[in-house]
Amino acid sequence: MLDKRKFYINGEWVDPIAPNDLEVINPATEQAIAVISMGAAADIDRAVVAAKNAFRTYSRTSLDERIALLEKLLAIYKRRYDEMARTITLELGAPITMSTEQQAHVGVGHLKGFIDALKRIKMREELPNGDIVLREPIGVCGLITPWNWPINQIALKAIPALATGSTCVLKPSEFTPLNALLYAEMVHEAGFPAGTFNLVNGDGPNVGAALSKHKDVDMMSFTGSTRAGTAVSKDAADTVKRVTLELGGKSPNIVFEDADLEERVTGSVLECFNNSGQSCDAPTRLLVQRSVYEQAVEIAKRVGEEARVGNPEEAGEHIGPLVSDIQYGRVQALIEAGVAEGAELIVGGPGKPEGFETGYYVKPTIFAGVNNQMRIAREEVFGPVLVIIPFDAEEDAIEIANDTNYGLAAYIQSGDLDRAERVAGRLRAGMVHINGAPHRYGSPFGGYKQSGIGREGGIFGLEDFLEVKTVHRPRAD
Ligand code: NDP
Repeated sequence: MLDKRKFYINGEWVDPIAPNDLEVINPATEQAIAVISMGAAADIDRAVVAAKNAFRTYSRTSLDERIALLEKLLAIYKRRYDEMARTITLELGAPITMSTEQQAHVGVGHLKGFIDALKRIKMREELPNGDIVLREPIGVCGLITPWNWPINQIALKAIPALATGSTCVLKPSEFTPLNALLYAEMVHEAGFPAGTFNLVNGDGPNVGAALSKHKDVDMMSFTGSTRAGTAVSKDAADTVKRVTLELGGKSPNIVFEDADLEERVTGSVLECFNNSGQSCDAPTRLLVQRSVYEQAVEIAKRVGEEARVGNPEEAGEHIGPLVSDIQYGRVQALIEAGVAEGAELIVGGPGKPEGFETGYYVKPTIFAGVNNQMRIAREEVFGPVLVIIPFDAEEDAIEIANDTNYGLAAYIQSGDLDRAERVAGRLRAGMVHINGAPHRYGSPFGGYKQSGIGREGGIFGLEDFLEVKTVHRPRAD
């Protein structure tokens, strides 16, 4: 078993102030793979002091110096790429093919996206009225990240903090801390000055809250549930710090009758099941025009029945387990709620798939005949569970799509691109994908309504970490 009990503070690997061990569990085997330390408020204090001290000089480094550091980090990340993919497979349960092609890959993509944005951002601008606007690093940033796309979230927060001249304290999810510790090793090797990047493990209510409340933390960047995001906002309020939130979703996926049904319904089901359904922007509500509803349900059923779960350590396109027993329980409860509410179960259902009694595996599940008021249509399931809802006309689709507390992503499938763009303009969501177009590095990621505040990635993601200073100069006239 790996011993990963140290924290990374002020450029050194240090013991927690008080020992408090926690085992990290492999969700495919339910066996412990590592032991970490759970920190406390005193560990956060120590990390914030280091970050505050480092900010004094790091905030004055040039863009070129920071770009050089990020480029070193990119080279190191590429060298240790397979180690990152394997770590994510072991602690999250993402199948190794998916870990390699997607989970670890985002670490490269976001680094390149931010380096490119840093070369294009204007840190000094002259306004037509003669005043000057300066963009400056915000200060000490508290970063709290979840387990579902762990290195994605760390990259979307730690890189813009370091890129803009801020310093940071990261608290990763206690379920997937090993990829974060590996990332800290890479940041260290890249030569970022001591105290610019610090990592303390621990749980949300103690270590996370200590960070949100800390008087010397200038900004909190959080990704996770809407429940925890609300707690972070409340904890941050007394010290008036900036809070950016990337929260949940219940993203609609509108299939119009003129879509290429075979291709687009197949793609939609697979995308919903990707990462075992544990993605905040997963297309989980499939809204299908009634004229092609039966056909779409038939395609979805076939694709769902063909989906296989399997051992994450084996290469292939199968679906891995959920991250934890807690998550398994939550997903089971919502599948059972769907059955109890009278939705038509066409694939999967409650319980574990045959032959997968050990590990937090669930059956890929599809409900048809769902109405948008059912719990499975309103709550984020965060498992491989798709609901299919019929609609009549374009206006009905827009109405149902927007009838949700969330507003992260939306998806449109149509052979008529004018219509797709028209409907995209009516959807209250931060990102709209047409006919399977993917999210691209450097584009803003984030949501409307209860899906969050702020945008991550590219120039928008850098701006969230910058203060704006206006310099009023005397004018000749
Ligand atoms: P959480 O929101 O609890 O976890 C995300 C991160 O927030 C973790 O690092 C967690 O710490 C931390 N956290 C929890 N409570 C607080 C708090 N009061 N103050 C500061 N930080 C806190 O998600 P769960 O793991 O409980 O998952 C629950 C549901 O959230 C999922 O079913 C899914 O619907 C949604 N979710 C959405 C994500 C997204 O990408 N938008 C990501 C993950 C979950 P720790 O767990 O270590 O205690």
